[in-house]
Amino acid sequence: MDKKILLHICCGPCAIYPLIWLKKQGYEVVGLYYNPNIHPLQEYLRRKEALQEVAARLKFKVIFKDEEYDPAGYLRQVVFREQNRCFHCYQMRLERTVSIAKRGNFNYFTTTLLYSKFQKHEMIAGLARDLAGNTKARFLYVDFREGWKQGIELSKEWKIYRQQYCGCIYSEFERYKKGIRGKD
Ligand code: SF4
Repeated sequence: MDKKILLHICCGPCAIYPLIWLKKQGYEVVGLYYNPNIHPLQEYLRRKEALQEVAARLKFKVIFKDEEYDPAGYLRQVVFREQNRCFHCYQMRLERTVSIAKRGNFNYFTTTLLYSKFQKHEMIAGLARDLAGNTKARFLYVDFREGWKQGIELSKEWKIYRQQYCGCIYSEFERYKKGIRGKD
């Protein structure tokens, strides 16, 4: 089969629509959960569990890189460049995805980050294209945001845990800071 694809997955709810779409197009999908950006560890585990539920429902295999969950390593990538932290965060995750795709003889790779309306879509696509270069594992660009509503509806119907912030300590603070500062 020449449609073997490695799908980088940020969380369970975001995986639903891309999975359905890729399977419909005849891709043989393997997921990759590699997200050292997620803070704290308990949130990482909660999202992992949600993804396991989605994988069981949609019947696909996921590689969980728990041994590479290294929040300190993630922070070293972004500290002092917080203004541009998403770029480095995407880069870190996509670089690992490309290296695993190459080693695993995948024909393609892509990411569920392209599903979220809250992510920097063009930046992710540009980075993935650059990282793919001339390697054997090609980047498959799909605007998964088209399935935004469908993914949300299914995740609610299946009662899959839906996170309240993007992932890193900075995004968690942004999400909840009103609790200690009031409206600002
Ligand atoms: S906001 Fe999201 S994409 Fe940006 S650095 Fe934090 S976890 Fe990564």
